[in-house]
Amino acid sequence: MSKWPNLIDPLYEEMKKDIKVYPSTANRASELGHECLRYLVYLRITKAEDLPRHDVHLQAIFNEGALHEDDLMIRFTKARLKPIEQQCELEWREYQIKGHVDCVFAKNGMAIPTDTKSMDPNIFRGIFPDAPRQYLWIEVEEKFQSKPWLKKYFAQIQLYMLFKNCEIGIFVFKNKSSGALAQVNLELDYDYTESLVKKAEAVNKHVKDETLPDRIPFKNDVCRRCKFADLCCPDMIAQSEFATVSDDELEAWCKDDLENTEAQRKKDKARKSLLAYMKANEFERCMVNCKYVLEMRNKRLKVFEVGDDS
Ligand code: SF4
Repeated sequence: MSKWPNLIDPLYEEMKKDIKVYPSTANRASELGHECLRYLVYLRITKAEDLPRHDVHLQAIFNEGALHEDDLMIRFTKARLKPIEQQCELEWREYQIKGHVDCVFAKNGMAIPTDTKSMDPNIFRGIFPDAPRQYLWIEVEEKFQSKPWLKKYFAQIQLYMLFKNCEIGIFVFKNKSSGALAQVNLELDYDYTESLVKKAEAVNKHVKDETLPDRIPFKNDVCRRCKFADLCCPDMIAQSEFATVSDDELEAWCKDDLENTEAQRKKDKARKSLLAYMKANEFERCMVNCKYVLEMRNKRLKVFEVGDDS
């Protein structure tokens, strides 16, 4: 028996209790930017007991995110930036849309919906290389549109602006590692919000008629990450040319390999380890934790994030 107490396992056991999945009784503003209507319908019709549960490692990431977002609220208060509303629930019954705005700040008679998000340091640096500063949406739009989960942020804040009847909105992003901040200033895009409302109506109709929309053409960066993939297209998942592995150490090596830092020795070690792994398993292509892809091209190893096959 070890003479050291185990201080980690009990924390993970406790964290497992935080894993909760809820069936959706309405269309969530945070999800309506998803490009697949079928996914949005699955969210509405899947019973709680059938909803896939995420693992404790993803829960740890969620918990970290919540800590950073709470920290931003504390900092607003310390800096005497007092929101006029905080943590407000929004509901648009006619279209069965619900949302939750972190805070609302007042300026020039306007109540400006503001959402706070924490971000992985690599992604943050890629989008906001010269943070801290304020950005206009147009400056960062391309980067946000390049990843399916980032695309949804735009839809979310647009719906909040529509709900709050305000022509402007704000995101405040925090780098989870350095604490650097970036503010993104947005204007209401009526055409886009109208398309989101129409999407909600289409989902509601499918739910009412008990029908499912068609699948979108299989996309690695969307369908592979989709929690309903096993239900929706098990054939595609099975036929996929990718070997898929779930391995946190491998994921950390991929991250180190892509890290844009001076820590060359760390990168070299990561690359060596990844190459050895691919050779030992005789893989040509392999997906790690649905986040990274390893690929042998002309005997050279290529590492990229899912959806970044450049
Ligand atoms: S697996 Fe793809 S097609 Fe099926 S619901 Fe998910 S995103 Fe849509």
